[in-house]
Amino acid sequence: MQFIAGEYRQGHGAEHVLVNPATGNELGRYPLANDRDVDLAVAAAKDAYPAWRDATPGDRADALLALATGLQERAQELATVESQQTGKSIRLAGEFDVPGTIDNAKFFAGAARHLTGLAAGSYWPNSTSFTRREPLGVVGSIAPWNYPLQMAAWKIFPAVAAGNTIVLKTSELTPGTSLLLAEIATEVGMPPGVINVLAGDGAHCGEALVRHPDVVMTSFTGSTKVGRRIMEMAASKGARVHLELGGKAPLVVYDDADLEAAARGAVAGSIINGGQDCTAATRAIVHSSLHDQFVERVAAIMNDVVIGPPDDVTTDLGSLISTVHRDRVAAIVDRARSHGATIVCGGGIPSDWNAPETAYFQPTLIANVAPSDEVWREEIFGPVLVTTPFETDEEAIALANDTPYGLAASAWTTSTRRALDAAARIEAGCVWINEHIPIVSDMPHGGYKASGFGKDMSQFSFEEYTQVKHVLIDQTDSPRREWQDIVFTTRGTNTVSGA
Ligand code: NAD
Repeated sequence: MQFIAGEYRQGHGAEHVLVNPATGNELGRYPLANDRDVDLAVAAAKDAYPAWRDATPGDRADALLALATGLQERAQELATVESQQTGKSIRLAGEFDVPGTIDNAKFFAGAARHLTGLAAGSYWPNSTSFTRREPLGVVGSIAPWNYPLQMAAWKIFPAVAAGNTIVLKTSELTPGTSLLLAEIATEVGMPPGVINVLAGDGAHCGEALVRHPDVVMTSFTGSTKVGRRIMEMAASKGARVHLELGGKAPLVVYDDADLEAAARGAVAGSIINGGQDCTAATRAIVHSSLHDQFVERVAAIMNDVVIGPPDDVTTDLGSLISTVHRDRVAAIVDRARSHGATIVCGGGIPSDWNAPETAYFQPTLIANVAPSDEVWREEIFGPVLVTTPFETDEEAIALANDTPYGLAASAWTTSTRRALDAAARIEAGCVWINEHIPIVSDMPHGGYKASGFGKDMSQFSFEEYTQVKHVLIDQTDSPRREWQDIVFTTRGTNTVSGA
């Protein structure tokens, strides 16, 4: 289904079979959105734009607060659909994805009323200047499958809080909760056409959305490869882009770290969402004096992780997004094994959950990895952590930065000096100290280097979704402006007023 102009509609593309990746069972079939649906959704967003742009920030805040309440009322349903379509555990969907989304709606309700800028003032003789922070128009957003609900929230809320209208293309694998979000928004009174959601693939729906002449900006979260393609397409029409791309986050453990905290952080940070998280801890860089103990403790915790059906509340780790993706993760781990890396724990499909149609993969720790190895360099997007030892602080920072990506990182130390040094020198949009994963609505989230540019979350996201206008009002009490003498000289009394 598609959600356009406040109602569900059938798409005009090819039929897609939705599958629960944890069971292999079919969840339903629907026609994907194609370029025709993009035209319809963009037209709906364009129609809704003038009234939404002209609504007061207070009105937009009220709509987002009502949406937060509506999401809360249907929290259980949202968590269930999210878990079924992604394979993630119901605990993660219910206690992380849904509350995070509701908090984000509340944050942007408040933020809508606090757009900032320069104070009005007299910056030119006899005049007053002020700025207006204005929306852009129809925003096109494209989201990945890993956190479908949260990604929809991160894209939609700042855009509409700022007065834009939006067409969000969700992944065709996981459309359920993004569509529910749009449905709930309409139910609680958001005007039709402000939020439109299309479920389609990249080639037939995503590209049409980016290229559409009425889409003034593309906000994209996904892989670095597709992000670059989107930038090329947007460049051909001179439109703005905001790119949240891949990551390969380092987790640096200094010799003064709390080892137990670091080991727990490494496991939580690497297996959350099956490791299908752009900020997941993927490269543990551990001081040589602690390395073996760290490996032993991480392996022990990973071995205790409960793999099982996502709808069971005792399950820690559900399935990956698809069997195709699981096979890709397995092939990368197999290649590391064949190149001499040590698979300390996990490394394959769990024997209890080894059916061809289900997409489970074990929490995996790989040691003896060289910085030139594929598992060190490439984004795996599975529950796989690799480790390497270091000797000096300089070496630790160099290893952390030895990646084209720069989305997130963590440093584990009890030294303030080292913490501040790591925070300053690691090239990433987020550096956690003695923590790994928390992303909060109030703080910016976005990449350095090949992880993209622009910010989701926080007041900073308004830089992406607004444009700033300078308004200058002249207050001279005469037709003559002094500065005009630079351009032309008036002599005598030959003026309209004779002044
Ligand atoms: P992907 O790049 O394959 O797809 C992302 C979205 O782009 C999907 O909706 C897809 O249909 C669409 N798409 C694909 N080709 C397109 C094209 N040519 N034109 C327009 N749209 C197109 O990524 P994925 O596999 O869905 O998600 C995983 C990736 O997302 C990982 O690289 C991960 O790091 C990244 N990610 C980044 C963040 C972040 O905040 N930086 C957050 C989550 C995921």
